[in-house]
Amino acid sequence: MSSYVSRINQLDAVQLDDEIHRIFVARAQEISRLFTPGTTDKWSPEINAGLRSLIWIFSLGTGKSTFGQKLLDLTYIDLTRAKSLLILILSVLPKYLEDKYVDPNRISLRPRDKILKNYLERIFNIFNLLSFINLLLFLNRGTQPTILERLLGISSRNIASTRPRTIGYSYMTRELLWHGLMELFTIGLPLINFHYLKRCFRFSRRDKPDAQVIPVMTGNTLCPQCDETPVLPRHAGCSHIYCYYCISAQFKVYESFECVACGTELHLRNMKTYSVAS
Ligand SMILES: [Zn+2]
Ligand SMILES: [Zn+2]
Repeated sequence: MSSYVSRINQLDAVQLDDEIHRIFVARAQEISRLFTPGTTDKWSPEINAGLRSLIWIFSLGTGKSTFGQKLLDLTYIDLTRAKSLLILILSVLPKYLEDKYVDPNRISLRPRDKILKNYLERIFNIFNLLSFINLLLFLNRGTQPTILERLLGISSRNIASTRPRTIGYSYMTRELLWHGLMELFTIGLPLINFHYLKRCFRFSRRDKPDAQVIPVMTGNTLCPQCDETPVLPRHAGCSHIYCYYCISAQFKVYESFECVACGTELHLRNMKTYSVAS
């Protein structure tokens, strides 16, 4: 009974290992920002390989399980020292070659590198195909989720045999609620016309200026709506000049609205393009 490990636990362990490596890479990238741009970029395959080796040293180098497995109470059965070293080589070296020669973000100039790249790409394609077949085998048999494990003939088992996989549903519910709320905000909030609401609550200033003022645009003129220099300037009856987008957005909702700056009621039919002559 103790030898049985659910498929989902094994897949999760692999996923967690990937995540842990990604966290380290992100940290390394953050640190590399402190250097002059470009100095660490060319060393990124070496840095990645170093990080993978470091993770190995502290997981399989000293014990019998990876970090992902430890988190899920799993361990490898029949993992010898030689197999452990093979895991290190076979997990670091191909990734290093992939980062160095196949990564499309890196520009390899030497023609020798290009030939190598072609060969490596073929090898990785075959490897990906084999990984897929391995995944199908894993789903069928329930052991050895990675091709490396199948090659070396190692599989995992539970350390805590009696404890079932526990899932904190309270946490998941909170997560779901939070995501729902985020979605509501990102989708719902842009639909609310805040400028209109603001005007509804604001004390209305009704010292109305003359109905027809000719606005003058200077270098300091700002759109009352967005506080930026008006883009495609428009005006509609008061001395203020709006961006085309800002004023059209208001007129899209209502035929008339009160100027944000002076409170004059503006009408769609009065909207004019600002030109120096007008
Ligand atoms: Zn504007
Ligand atoms: Zn105005």
